[in-house]
Amino acid sequence: MIDLNNISQNNWANTRISILGAGKSGIAAGALGAHIGAKIFISERNDSPGIIENIGNFKHELGGHSNSVLDADILVKSPGIPNDIPIIKECENQNIPIVSEIEFASWFTSSPILAVTGSNGKTTTVNLLHEMCISDGRTSLLGGNVGMPFSENVLWELRSDIKTSIHVLELSSFQLEHIISFSPTIAGILNISADHLDRYADINAYAAEKLKLADHIQESGWLVYNADDPILAESLMDSARSMVFSLTKNEKCHFKLNATKVFSGEPDNPDILFNFEDTKLKGFHNLQNILAAATMAHSFGISQEAIQNTIINFSPIPHRLEWVGSIHNVDYFNDSKATNIAAATAAIESFEDNLILILGGQDKGSTDFRQLIPFMENRVKSIIAYGDAGAEIKNQLNENFTVTYCEYFKDAMLTANNNSTAGDTILLSPACASFDQFSNYEERGNKFVEIFTKLELGN
Ligand code: ADP
Repeated sequence: MIDLNNISQNNWANTRISILGAGKSGIAAGALGAHIGAKIFISERNDSPGIIENIGNFKHELGGHSNSVLDADILVKSPGIPNDIPIIKECENQNIPIVSEIEFASWFTSSPILAVTGSNGKTTTVNLLHEMCISDGRTSLLGGNVGMPFSENVLWELRSDIKTSIHVLELSSFQLEHIISFSPTIAGILNISADHLDRYADINAYAAEKLKLADHIQESGWLVYNADDPILAESLMDSARSMVFSLTKNEKCHFKLNATKVFSGEPDNPDILFNFEDTKLKGFHNLQNILAAATMAHSFGISQEAIQNTIINFSPIPHRLEWVGSIHNVDYFNDSKATNIAAATAAIESFEDNLILILGGQDKGSTDFRQLIPFMENRVKSIIAYGDAGAEIKNQLNENFTVTYCEYFKDAMLTANNNSTAGDTILLSPACASFDQFSNYEERGNKFVEIFTKLELGN
Protein backbone atom coordinates (compact mmCIF):
# COMPACT_ATOMS: atom_id res chain seq x y z
CA MET A 1 0.00 0.00 0.00
CA ILE A 2 1.15 3.53 -0.68
CA ASP A 3 1.01 5.93 2.25
CA LEU A 4 -0.22 9.18 0.71
CA ASN A 5 0.43 11.04 3.95
CA ASN A 6 4.04 10.02 4.04
CA ILE A 7 5.14 9.93 0.45
CA SER A 8 8.90 10.17 1.02
CA GLN A 9 8.81 7.01 3.15
CA ASN A 10 7.35 4.84 0.40
CA ASN A 11 9.39 2.12 -1.16
CA TRP A 12 8.63 2.35 -4.85
CA ALA A 13 10.40 -0.79 -5.95
CA ASN A 14 7.76 -3.05 -7.45
CA THR A 15 4.90 -0.69 -6.59
CA ARG A 16 2.22 -1.17 -9.24
CA ILE A 17 1.35 2.07 -11.03
CA SER A 18 -1.42 2.21 -13.59
CA ILE A 19 -1.37 5.23 -15.85
CA LEU A 20 -4.48 6.37 -17.69
CA GLY A 21 -3.65 8.07 -20.96
CA ALA A 22 -0.63 7.61 -23.23
CA GLY A 23 -0.23 11.26 -24.22
CA LYS A 24 2.92 13.23 -23.45
CA SER A 25 2.29 13.47 -19.72
CA GLY A 26 1.20 9.83 -19.31
CA ILE A 27 4.32 8.55 -21.05
CA ALA A 28 6.52 10.93 -19.03
CA ALA A 29 4.90 9.70 -15.78
CA GLY A 30 5.62 6.14 -16.96
CA ALA A 31 9.30 6.97 -17.53
CA LEU A 32 9.56 8.62 -14.12
CA GLY A 33 7.80 5.67 -12.47
CA ALA A 34 10.11 3.20 -14.19
CA HIS A 35 13.14 5.23 -13.09
CA ILE A 36 12.17 4.86 -9.44
CA GLY A 37 11.67 1.13 -9.88
CA ALA A 38 7.87 0.90 -10.03
CA LYS A 39 5.98 -1.52 -12.28
CA ILE A 40 4.16 0.50 -14.94
CA PHE A 41 0.98 -0.31 -16.84
CA ILE A 42 -0.34 2.27 -19.32
CA SER A 43 -3.94 2.15 -20.51
CA GLU A 44 -5.05 4.23 -23.50
CA ARG A 45 -8.44 4.57 -25.18
CA ASN A 46 -7.01 5.27 -28.64
CA ASP A 47 -4.92 2.94 -30.74
CA SER A 48 -3.56 5.24 -33.42
CA PRO A 49 -0.04 4.53 -34.83
CA GLY A 50 1.41 7.63 -33.11
CA ILE A 51 0.30 6.31 -29.72
CA ILE A 52 1.78 2.87 -30.39
CA GLU A 53 5.10 4.47 -31.24
CA ASN A 54 5.17 6.59 -28.07
CA ILE A 55 4.26 3.80 -25.73
CA GLY A 56 7.44 1.89 -26.56
CA ASN A 57 8.27 -0.94 -24.19
CA PHE A 58 5.84 -0.09 -21.43
CA LYS A 59 3.37 -2.82 -20.53
CA HIS A 60 0.15 -1.45 -21.95
CA GLU A 61 -3.30 -1.83 -23.43
CA LEU A 62 -4.79 0.22 -26.26
CA GLY A 63 -8.31 0.78 -27.54
CA GLY A 64 -9.99 0.97 -24.11
CA HIS A 65 -9.54 0.74 -20.34
CA SER A 66 -9.98 -2.85 -19.08
CA ASN A 67 -10.02 -4.11 -15.50
CA SER A 68 -6.26 -4.68 -15.77
CA VAL A 69 -6.00 -1.01 -14.75
CA LEU A 70 -7.32 -2.04 -11.33
CA ASP A 71 -4.35 -4.29 -10.66
CA ALA A 72 -2.54 -1.31 -9.14
CA ASP A 73 -1.42 0.35 -5.91
CA ILE A 74 -2.03 3.75 -7.42
CA LEU A 75 -3.57 5.29 -10.53
CA VAL A 76 -1.92 8.26 -12.25
CA LYS A 77 -4.42 10.09 -14.43
CA SER A 78 -3.55 12.22 -17.46
CA PRO A 79 -5.27 15.62 -17.43
CA GLY A 80 -7.38 15.13 -20.57
CA ILE A 81 -9.31 12.20 -19.12
CA PRO A 82 -12.78 12.99 -17.76
CA ASN A 83 -13.57 12.02 -14.18
CA ASP A 84 -16.86 10.32 -14.88
CA ILE A 85 -15.70 7.39 -17.03
CA PRO A 86 -16.40 3.89 -15.64
CA ILE A 87 -12.77 2.93 -14.94
CA ILE A 88 -12.32 5.97 -12.68
CA LYS A 89 -15.51 5.12 -10.81
CA GLU A 90 -14.27 1.55 -10.40
CA CYS A 91 -10.92 2.75 -9.02
CA GLU A 92 -12.82 4.88 -6.53
CA ASN A 93 -15.00 1.90 -5.55
CA GLN A 94 -11.90 -0.19 -4.95
CA ASN A 95 -10.17 2.62 -3.00
CA ILE A 96 -7.24 2.78 -5.41
CA PRO A 97 -5.75 6.25 -4.88
CA ILE A 98 -6.04 8.46 -7.98
CA VAL A 99 -3.52 11.25 -8.47
CA SER A 100 -2.79 13.63 -11.31
CA GLU A 101 0.48 13.49 -13.21
CA ILE A 102 1.39 16.81 -11.54
CA GLU A 103 0.89 15.38 -8.05
CA PHE A 104 2.86 12.26 -8.93
CA ALA A 105 5.84 14.16 -10.35
CA SER A 106 5.93 16.52 -7.38
CA TRP A 107 6.74 13.60 -5.05
CA PHE A 108 10.19 13.22 -6.59
CA THR A 109 11.51 16.76 -6.47
CA SER A 110 12.31 19.07 -3.59
CA SER A 111 13.18 22.01 -5.84
CA PRO A 112 11.10 25.20 -5.61
CA ILE A 113 7.99 25.23 -7.79
CA LEU A 114 6.55 28.43 -9.25
CA ALA A 115 3.09 27.53 -10.53
CA VAL A 116 0.67 29.59 -12.59
CA THR A 117 -2.99 28.97 -13.30
CA GLY A 118 -5.87 31.06 -14.64
CA SER A 119 -8.28 31.07 -17.54
CA ASN A 120 -6.10 33.14 -19.88
CA GLY A 121 -2.53 34.36 -20.01
CA LYS A 122 -0.86 31.32 -18.42
CA THR A 123 1.55 30.54 -21.26
CA THR A 124 2.64 34.14 -21.67
CA THR A 125 3.12 34.52 -17.91
CA VAL A 126 5.09 31.29 -17.36
CA ASN A 127 7.37 32.10 -20.28
CA LEU A 128 8.06 35.54 -18.82
CA LEU A 129 8.69 34.02 -15.40
CA HIS A 130 10.95 31.31 -16.82
CA GLU A 131 13.00 33.94 -18.68
CA MET A 132 13.22 36.09 -15.54
CA CYS A 133 14.63 33.12 -13.61
CA ILE A 134 17.14 32.37 -16.38
CA SER A 135 18.14 36.01 -16.60
CA ASP A 136 18.84 35.83 -12.84
CA GLY A 137 21.25 32.96 -13.47
CA ARG A 138 19.00 30.14 -12.24
CA THR A 139 18.37 26.75 -13.83
CA SER A 140 14.69 27.04 -14.67
CA LEU A 141 12.73 24.08 -16.02
CA LEU A 142 9.51 25.14 -17.75
CA GLY A 143 6.77 22.55 -17.95
CA GLY A 144 3.26 21.38 -17.18
CA ASN A 145 0.60 22.48 -19.60
CA VAL A 146 3.26 23.97 -21.85
CA GLY A 147 6.39 22.39 -23.28
CA MET A 148 7.64 19.48 -21.22
CA PRO A 149 5.46 17.44 -18.90
CA PHE A 150 6.39 18.06 -15.26
CA SER A 151 7.36 14.37 -14.89
CA GLU A 152 9.88 14.71 -17.71
CA ASN A 153 11.54 17.71 -16.06
CA VAL A 154 11.63 15.93 -12.71
CA LEU A 155 13.20 12.89 -14.34
CA TRP A 156 15.79 15.13 -16.01
CA GLU A 157 16.57 16.57 -12.61
CA LEU A 158 16.94 13.15 -10.99
CA ARG A 159 19.34 12.10 -13.70
CA SER A 160 21.39 15.29 -13.73
CA ASP A 161 23.94 16.64 -11.30
CA ILE A 162 22.19 19.98 -11.03
CA LYS A 163 20.40 20.12 -7.73
CA THR A 164 19.43 23.78 -7.75
CA SER A 165 16.72 23.87 -10.39
CA ILE A 166 13.44 25.75 -10.25
CA HIS A 167 10.29 24.32 -11.78
CA VAL A 168 8.10 26.88 -13.52
CA LEU A 169 4.76 25.20 -14.14
CA GLU A 170 1.74 26.16 -16.19
CA LEU A 171 -1.30 24.41 -14.74
CA SER A 172 -4.70 24.00 -16.35
CA SER A 173 -7.77 23.35 -14.24
CA PHE A 174 -7.66 19.72 -15.40
CA GLN A 175 -4.14 19.36 -14.01
CA LEU A 176 -5.27 20.70 -10.65
CA GLU A 177 -7.77 17.89 -10.29
CA HIS A 178 -6.51 15.06 -8.09
CA ILE A 179 -3.72 16.94 -6.39
CA ILE A 180 -3.06 16.08 -2.73
CA SER A 181 0.27 17.20 -1.32
CA PHE A 182 1.51 19.19 -4.34
CA SER A 183 2.72 22.49 -2.89
CA PRO A 184 4.36 25.22 -4.93
CA THR A 185 6.63 27.80 -3.34
CA ILE A 186 4.92 30.57 -5.29
CA ALA A 187 1.47 30.16 -6.80
CA GLY A 188 0.04 32.72 -9.22
CA ILE A 189 -3.64 32.91 -10.16
CA LEU A 190 -4.27 35.21 -13.10
CA ASN A 191 -8.01 35.41 -13.71
CA ILE A 192 -11.16 33.33 -13.80
CA SER A 193 -13.67 33.50 -16.60
CA ALA A 194 -15.95 30.99 -18.29
CA ASP A 195 -14.03 28.25 -20.09
CA HIS A 196 -14.25 24.47 -20.50
CA LEU A 197 -17.91 24.51 -19.58
CA ASP A 198 -18.20 21.37 -21.67
CA ARG A 199 -16.32 19.58 -18.85
CA TYR A 200 -17.50 21.43 -15.72
CA ALA A 201 -21.08 21.69 -14.45
CA ASP A 202 -20.83 25.49 -14.19
CA ILE A 203 -18.35 28.32 -13.70
CA ASN A 204 -18.30 27.74 -9.92
CA ALA A 205 -17.11 24.17 -10.36
CA TYR A 206 -14.44 25.37 -12.80
CA ALA A 207 -13.39 28.26 -10.51
CA ALA A 208 -13.12 25.86 -7.56
CA GLU A 209 -10.42 23.85 -9.39
CA LYS A 210 -8.38 26.96 -10.12
CA LEU A 211 -8.77 28.35 -6.60
CA LYS A 212 -7.54 25.07 -5.17
CA LEU A 213 -4.01 26.16 -6.00
CA ALA A 214 -4.27 28.85 -3.31
CA ASP A 215 -4.72 26.17 -0.61
CA HIS A 216 -1.64 24.25 -1.65
CA ILE A 217 1.18 26.73 -1.11
CA GLN A 218 4.20 25.91 1.04
CA GLU A 219 4.15 27.52 4.46
CA SER A 220 7.02 29.85 3.58
CA GLY A 221 5.63 30.54 0.10
CA TRP A 222 3.51 33.25 -1.46
CA LEU A 223 0.19 33.43 -3.24
CA VAL A 224 0.15 36.03 -6.01
CA TYR A 225 -3.20 36.97 -7.53
CA ASN A 226 -4.96 39.50 -9.68
CA ALA A 227 -6.81 41.94 -7.43
CA ASP A 228 -8.78 43.26 -10.45
CA ASP A 229 -10.51 39.92 -10.99
CA PRO A 230 -13.81 39.94 -9.07
CA ILE A 231 -13.88 36.21 -8.31
CA LEU A 232 -10.26 36.18 -7.14
CA ALA A 233 -10.57 39.40 -5.14
CA GLU A 234 -13.57 38.05 -3.27
CA SER A 235 -12.31 34.52 -2.72
CA LEU A 236 -8.68 35.27 -1.86
CA MET A 237 -8.76 38.60 -0.03
CA ASP A 238 -8.18 36.98 3.37
CA SER A 239 -5.34 34.73 2.27
CA ALA A 240 -2.28 34.85 4.48
CA ARG A 241 1.05 35.43 2.74
CA SER A 242 -0.45 36.86 -0.42
CA MET A 243 0.71 39.54 -2.83
CA VAL A 244 -1.51 41.13 -5.43
CA PHE A 245 -1.06 42.79 -8.78
CA SER A 246 -3.47 45.24 -10.34
CA LEU A 247 -3.89 47.67 -13.21
CA THR A 248 -5.60 50.14 -10.92
CA LYS A 249 -4.20 52.13 -8.02
CA ASN A 250 -3.68 49.59 -5.28
CA GLU A 251 -1.45 50.21 -2.27
CA LYS A 252 -0.96 46.48 -1.70
CA CYS A 253 0.92 45.99 -4.99
CA HIS A 254 4.70 45.85 -5.03
CA PHE A 255 4.75 47.01 -8.68
CA LYS A 256 2.51 50.00 -9.31
CA LEU A 257 1.68 51.81 -12.52
CA ASN A 258 0.81 55.23 -13.77
CA ALA A 259 -0.16 56.35 -17.28
CA THR A 260 3.21 55.55 -18.85
CA LYS A 261 5.21 53.13 -16.70
CA VAL A 262 5.46 50.43 -14.07
CA PHE A 263 7.56 51.16 -10.99
CA SER A 264 8.26 50.02 -7.45
CA GLY A 265 8.80 52.29 -4.46
CA GLU A 266 6.93 55.53 -3.99
CA PRO A 267 5.36 57.61 -6.82
CA ASP A 268 7.49 60.64 -5.87
CA ASN A 269 10.67 58.55 -5.83
CA PRO A 270 9.95 55.67 -8.25
CA ASP A 271 12.28 52.82 -9.11
CA ILE A 272 11.23 52.36 -12.74
CA LEU A 273 10.75 48.76 -13.88
CA PHE A 274 9.80 49.65 -17.46
CA ASN A 275 8.03 52.23 -19.60
CA PHE A 276 5.04 50.82 -21.53
CA GLU A 277 6.77 51.65 -24.82
CA ASP A 278 9.69 49.37 -23.84
CA THR A 279 7.71 46.12 -24.18
CA LYS A 280 6.69 44.37 -27.40
CA LEU A 281 3.68 42.80 -25.66
CA LYS A 282 0.48 44.54 -26.72
CA GLY A 283 -2.65 45.28 -24.70
CA PHE A 284 -3.71 45.65 -21.07
CA HIS A 285 -4.13 41.89 -20.71
CA ASN A 286 -0.42 41.48 -21.43
CA LEU A 287 0.36 44.19 -18.91
CA GLN A 288 -1.46 42.01 -16.38
CA ASN A 289 0.62 39.02 -17.45
CA ILE A 290 3.81 41.05 -17.05
CA LEU A 291 2.75 42.22 -13.59
CA ALA A 292 1.85 38.68 -12.59
CA ALA A 293 5.23 37.30 -13.67
CA ALA A 294 7.15 40.23 -12.16
CA THR A 295 5.34 39.95 -8.82
CA MET A 296 5.88 36.21 -8.66
CA ALA A 297 9.55 36.61 -9.56
CA HIS A 298 10.00 39.37 -7.00
CA SER A 299 8.33 37.34 -4.23
CA PHE A 300 10.72 34.50 -5.04
CA GLY A 301 13.77 36.75 -4.81
CA ILE A 302 14.61 37.26 -8.48
CA SER A 303 16.49 40.55 -8.94
CA GLN A 304 14.72 43.60 -10.32
CA GLU A 305 17.42 43.83 -13.01
CA ALA A 306 16.60 40.31 -14.28
CA ILE A 307 12.87 41.06 -14.23
CA GLN A 308 13.46 44.29 -16.12
CA ASN A 309 15.75 42.77 -18.78
CA THR A 310 13.24 40.04 -19.48
CA ILE A 311 10.32 42.42 -19.93
CA ILE A 312 12.29 44.57 -22.33
CA ASN A 313 13.59 41.66 -24.43
CA PHE A 314 10.49 39.43 -24.46
CA SER A 315 8.62 38.88 -27.77
CA PRO A 316 4.98 37.72 -28.02
CA ILE A 317 4.62 33.95 -28.19
CA PRO A 318 3.26 32.65 -31.52
CA HIS A 319 -0.55 32.54 -31.82
CA ARG A 320 -1.04 35.00 -28.96
CA LEU A 321 -1.81 38.39 -30.41
CA GLU A 322 1.17 37.89 -32.68
CA TRP A 323 1.74 40.51 -35.36
CA VAL A 324 2.28 38.53 -38.54
CA GLY A 325 2.89 41.41 -40.93
CA SER A 326 1.05 43.86 -43.12
CA ILE A 327 -0.15 43.89 -46.73
CA HIS A 328 -1.02 47.23 -48.37
CA ASN A 329 -1.07 48.83 -44.94
CA VAL A 330 -3.46 46.23 -43.48
CA ASP A 331 -2.06 44.62 -40.31
CA TYR A 332 -2.58 40.91 -39.65
CA PHE A 333 -2.67 39.60 -36.07
CA ASN A 334 -2.77 35.91 -35.23
CA ASP A 335 -4.50 35.29 -31.89
CA SER A 336 -5.56 31.72 -32.65
CA LYS A 337 -5.03 30.78 -29.00
CA ALA A 338 -7.96 33.02 -27.98
CA THR A 339 -10.42 30.15 -27.67
CA ASN A 340 -12.85 31.74 -25.22
CA ILE A 341 -14.78 34.99 -24.84
CA ALA A 342 -12.47 36.56 -22.23
CA ALA A 343 -9.39 35.98 -24.40
CA ALA A 344 -11.05 37.41 -27.51
CA THR A 345 -12.28 40.38 -25.46
CA ALA A 346 -8.73 41.10 -24.29
CA ALA A 347 -7.47 41.00 -27.87
CA ILE A 348 -10.26 43.22 -29.26
CA GLU A 349 -9.67 45.76 -26.48
CA SER A 350 -6.04 46.01 -27.52
CA PHE A 351 -7.04 47.86 -30.73
CA GLU A 352 -8.68 51.21 -31.27
CA ASP A 353 -10.70 50.84 -34.46
CA ASN A 354 -10.97 49.51 -38.04
CA LEU A 355 -10.90 45.88 -37.00
CA ILE A 356 -11.98 43.06 -39.29
CA LEU A 357 -12.50 40.24 -36.84
CA ILE A 358 -12.45 36.54 -37.65
CA LEU A 359 -14.52 34.55 -35.15
CA GLY A 360 -15.52 30.90 -35.20
CA GLY A 361 -14.42 27.29 -35.09
CA GLN A 362 -15.85 24.87 -32.55
CA ASP A 363 -18.05 26.26 -29.79
CA LYS A 364 -16.82 25.26 -26.31
CA GLY A 365 -20.34 25.08 -24.88
CA SER A 366 -23.36 27.27 -25.79
CA THR A 367 -21.22 30.42 -25.84
CA ASP A 368 -23.05 33.73 -25.74
CA PHE A 369 -21.05 35.64 -28.36
CA ARG A 370 -23.17 38.73 -27.64
CA GLN A 371 -20.88 39.29 -24.65
CA LEU A 372 -18.37 40.67 -27.15
CA ILE A 373 -20.71 43.41 -28.42
CA PRO A 374 -19.77 46.19 -25.94
CA PHE A 375 -16.07 45.70 -26.73
CA MET A 376 -16.57 45.47 -30.48
CA GLU A 377 -18.67 48.62 -30.76
CA ASN A 378 -16.58 51.46 -32.24
CA ARG A 379 -13.73 49.05 -32.89
CA VAL A 380 -15.02 46.41 -35.28
CA LYS A 381 -15.88 47.27 -38.90
CA SER A 382 -17.02 43.81 -39.89
CA ILE A 383 -16.97 40.22 -38.71
CA ILE A 384 -16.21 37.04 -40.62
CA ALA A 385 -17.75 34.03 -38.85
CA TYR A 386 -16.49 30.61 -39.93
CA GLY A 387 -16.76 26.91 -39.13
CA ASP A 388 -19.17 24.92 -36.96
CA ALA A 389 -20.02 27.90 -34.76
CA GLY A 390 -20.10 30.35 -37.69
CA ALA A 391 -23.83 30.29 -38.44
CA GLU A 392 -24.74 30.72 -34.77
CA ILE A 393 -22.24 33.59 -34.40
CA LYS A 394 -23.78 35.31 -37.41
CA ASN A 395 -27.22 34.74 -35.95
CA GLN A 396 -26.23 36.31 -32.62
CA LEU A 397 -24.29 39.32 -33.94
CA ASN A 398 -26.02 40.12 -37.21
CA GLU A 399 -28.24 42.83 -35.78
CA ASN A 400 -25.30 44.89 -34.52
CA PHE A 401 -22.58 44.22 -37.11
CA THR A 402 -22.00 43.28 -40.71
CA VAL A 403 -21.31 39.55 -40.42
CA THR A 404 -20.26 37.32 -43.32
CA TYR A 405 -20.50 33.57 -42.84
CA CYS A 406 -17.86 31.31 -44.45
CA GLU A 407 -17.85 27.58 -43.94
CA TYR A 408 -14.09 27.17 -44.26
CA PHE A 409 -11.26 28.98 -42.49
CA LYS A 410 -9.39 29.71 -45.70
CA ASP A 411 -12.43 31.44 -47.21
CA ALA A 412 -12.84 33.43 -44.00
CA MET A 413 -9.33 34.80 -44.41
CA LEU A 414 -9.73 35.52 -48.11
CA THR A 415 -13.00 37.34 -47.41
CA ALA A 416 -11.35 39.37 -44.65
CA ASN A 417 -8.56 40.27 -47.07
CA ASN A 418 -11.04 41.23 -49.84
CA ASN A 419 -13.04 43.42 -47.46
CA SER A 420 -10.03 45.29 -46.10
CA THR A 421 -8.72 48.72 -47.00
CA ALA A 422 -5.55 50.54 -45.95
CA GLY A 423 -5.49 51.28 -42.22
CA ASP A 424 -7.52 48.19 -41.25
CA THR A 425 -6.41 45.39 -38.97
CA ILE A 426 -7.38 41.79 -39.62
CA LEU A 427 -7.55 39.98 -36.31
CA LEU A 428 -8.02 36.25 -35.86
CA SER A 429 -9.22 36.00 -32.25
CA PRO A 430 -11.83 33.31 -32.73
CA ALA A 431 -13.37 32.81 -29.23
CA CYS A 432 -13.80 29.13 -30.17
CA ALA A 433 -11.73 25.96 -30.19
CA SER A 434 -10.16 24.91 -33.49
CA PHE A 435 -11.04 21.21 -33.58
CA ASP A 436 -13.76 21.35 -36.23
CA GLN A 437 -11.17 22.05 -38.97
CA PHE A 438 -7.74 21.69 -37.32
CA SER A 439 -5.91 19.39 -34.88
CA ASN A 440 -5.22 22.31 -32.55
CA TYR A 441 -4.97 26.09 -32.30
CA GLU A 442 -1.35 26.04 -33.49
CA GLU A 443 -2.36 24.43 -36.77
CA ARG A 444 -5.08 27.06 -37.22
CA GLY A 445 -2.59 29.85 -36.44
CA ASN A 446 -0.04 28.36 -38.82
CA LYS A 447 -2.69 28.26 -41.55
CA PHE A 448 -3.34 31.96 -40.88
CA VAL A 449 0.36 32.72 -41.34
CA GLU A 450 0.55 30.50 -44.44
CA ILE A 451 -2.41 32.22 -46.13
CA PHE A 452 -1.01 35.61 -45.12
CA THR A 453 2.32 34.73 -46.76
CA LYS A 454 0.59 33.67 -49.99
CA LEU A 455 -1.46 36.87 -50.04
CA GLU A 456 1.70 38.86 -49.42
CA LEU A 457 3.37 37.22 -52.38
CA GLY A 458 0.28 37.92 -54.46
CA ASN A 459 -0.62 34.24 -54.99
P1 ADP B 1 -3.29 30.40 -21.72
O1 ADP B 1 -2.04 29.60 -21.65
O2 ADP B 1 -3.91 30.62 -20.37
O3 ADP B 1 -4.28 29.95 -22.74
P2 ADP B 1 -1.95 32.43 -23.33
O4 ADP B 1 -0.84 33.24 -22.77
O5 ADP B 1 -1.60 31.31 -24.23
O6 ADP B 1 -2.84 31.89 -22.12
O7 ADP B 1 -2.99 33.39 -24.07
C1 ADP B 1 -4.15 32.84 -24.68
C2 ADP B 1 -5.03 33.93 -25.22
O8 ADP B 1 -5.65 34.60 -24.15
C3 ADP B 1 -4.26 34.97 -25.99
O9 ADP B 1 -4.40 34.66 -27.34
C4 ADP B 1 -4.90 36.29 -25.62
O10 ADP B 1 -5.88 36.64 -26.56
C5 ADP B 1 -5.62 36.01 -24.32
N1 ADP B 1 -4.98 36.50 -23.10
C6 ADP B 1 -3.67 36.44 -22.75
N2 ADP B 1 -3.48 36.96 -21.53
C7 ADP B 1 -4.70 37.32 -21.06
C8 ADP B 1 -5.17 37.92 -19.84
N3 ADP B 1 -4.34 38.21 -18.85
N4 ADP B 1 -6.50 38.16 -19.73
C9 ADP B 1 -7.35 37.86 -20.74
N5 ADP B 1 -6.97 37.30 -21.90
C10 ADP B 1 -5.66 37.04 -22.08
